[in-house]
Amino acid sequence: MLQFQNAILEMIARGEELSATIERLCRQVETRIPGIACSVLAVKDGRLFPIAGPSLPEQYSRALTGIAIGPLVGSCGAAAYHGADVAVTDIDRDGRWQHYRHLVTPLGFKACWSTPIFAGNRVVATFAFYFRESRGPSDAEREIVDACVHLCAIAIEREERVSEREQLTYTDALTGLPNRARFNMMLAEQGKGGGKSWGLLLADVDNLKLVNDTFGHAAGDALIQTVARRMAVAIASEKIFRLGGDEFAAILDATEMAALGRHADALIRETKRPAQCDGHVVFPAVTIGGALAGQDMTPGEVQHNADIALYHGKERNRGEYTSYFKGLGTALTRRFRAIRDVGVALSENRIEAHYQPIVRLDTREIVGFEALARMRTSGGELISAAHFHEATLDGHIAAQLTDRMIALVSADMRRWLDMGLPLQHVGINLSAADFRVDDLQGRLCEAFMAAGVPLDHLIIEVTESVYLGKGDHVVADEIKALRSKGLKVALDDFGTGFASLTHLLTVPVDIIKIDKSFIDRLAPPDAAAVIVEGVMAIATKLGIRVVAEGIETERQAEHLQALGCMLGQGYLYSKAVDRHTATDLLATSAQRLEPEQAISDRVKAGA
Ligand code: C2E
Ligand code: CA
Ligand code: CA
Repeated sequence: MLQFQNAILEMIARGEELSATIERLCRQVETRIPGIACSVLAVKDGRLFPIAGPSLPEQYSRALTGIAIGPLVGSCGAAAYHGADVAVTDIDRDGRWQHYRHLVTPLGFKACWSTPIFAGNRVVATFAFYFRESRGPSDAEREIVDACVHLCAIAIEREERVSEREQLTYTDALTGLPNRARFNMMLAEQGKGGGKSWGLLLADVDNLKLVNDTFGHAAGDALIQTVARRMAVAIASEKIFRLGGDEFAAILDATEMAALGRHADALIRETKRPAQCDGHVVFPAVTIGGALAGQDMTPGEVQHNADIALYHGKERNRGEYTSYFKGLGTALTRRFRAIRDVGVALSENRIEAHYQPIVRLDTREIVGFEALARMRTSGGELISAAHFHEATLDGHIAAQLTDRMIALVSADMRRWLDMGLPLQHVGINLSAADFRVDDLQGRLCEAFMAAGVPLDHLIIEVTESVYLGKGDHVVADEIKALRSKGLKVALDDFGTGFASLTHLLTVPVDIIKIDKSFIDRLAPPDAAAVIVEGVMAIATKLGIRVVAEGIETERQAEHLQALGCMLGQGYLYSKAVDRHTATDLLATSAQRLEPEQAISDRVKAGA
């Protein structure tokens, strides 16, 4: 007996399959007690499932599969039901076998004794002896069954733990959806699908960070759970995966792009409704990118394409679906190269701040500078921002570039103040991505405070598409907060976006910078002059100053003055220059303010 127990325990310890271990146990018992048949049934959710029964015919096991336990469900169903052993000594006559005896009497069995197997206080299985004569168990048999039941309990509990662990390994704890590990497995499976057409959707929850930051992580978790639930409604839950963070994926059967698009639209539609997240009303939105598996494509390539589509969507098409097409990758490659180049330049201190003067059109006196980023190549060549400014679409790089510019500009301004130069304002350009990164306000204020430069010398330049982006009150709120700290806001590239003049009444700005494209078209019969005149009229009423950008000719300067525009910048006056030249320009050509103003500025600067 001991030897037999050890053999079984060893199988359990080795992690052999549960059915193999228990079948071995049954066979051992059957050789020790000739004439009987052993059977072990698992009990799961109140139903029976055969684990082993080596001497019972296959179709008998099949007939028992999934039967609900109950007082009249044979010896095993009753034993599981009562949680106590049931010895039926005469199957032919016992009421508990009335619905099942037709299955066993043809096999020659007359009696059946079943014992429940417990894990804690749960019945997890039953252990049964079938006898060929009408009888109950002997004492010796009871002893053997006691030992067997114990071994079975150990084996089953171990199996449960293993499958629980497996469940954990492949399930996302927050949403209950299959996780990234499962996704990787299923994706690899698609590759072996043998020509079956399929597609991949990658989805990104748009406003998770915002919800986390404003309402807390409980609300963020609730948002993820809501999105997961809704996605599982739109598409079967086993096809949806949570890859982590705000990323989801769906692997779908699809033969054409349009079909994939319909799935994506269903996901977007289903997730869009307002939701309660930890007591806050949130409007969930997802951005989705999708790609179809073409002939001879590896799953990795499909994933790469869907990634490109998603990346593109996040920049241009938030809250919508972007499907992959061939050219999409090239634009992205260009951007990636720019991102990489700027990243390296940042780490090697090859980013410089250059300054383009902003002048009074009538006197040509300098009233301020616009700081423009320049990248010095390792060969010493200077690259203008126009050539790398795609890189600022990447949030990470944008934040680093902005930090570097803030550091350079605040140091230069400190120097000019120390030299007693008549410095009024310097503008720094911010991109949309800057507002998606943490604590812009803190970064700006800290740097200028540390340099001892009062914030009212600082202008932030923001394009209208950033400021007035669809439904993005985050940026507007952040800008309001910054203004309350004393710095000024310029609406950059005015006229190139979609903002109407009436927008100006709703967004607080201090300065409007009219885009070069208008300045280029001032001469009649073009309507640009009329528009500039209109902007001037509204701006004057609202107390907003107007700066004309990209002035290249005297004619343009005269024309602007005739329209009432007082300030401008452009190659006519100066290109962007390095800080040494900027210092000279300040010394020779800057507008001298009234003495009191200059003194009060220096006092504020702590000079
Ligand atoms: P922007 O803010 O509209 O800057 C003005 C651009 O027009 C600058 O190009 C400037 O050199 C150029 N420019 C000025 N006057 C004239 C002119 O008379 N004729 C012509 N043809 N061009 C003129 P730059 O420096 O290449 O900058 C391009 C864009 O890159 C900027 O447009 C701005 O949006 C962005 N940028 C520049 N520096 C930074 C920065 O530090 N951070 C961020 N986020 N973006 C920056
Ligand atoms: Ca600008
Ligand atoms: Ca501009």
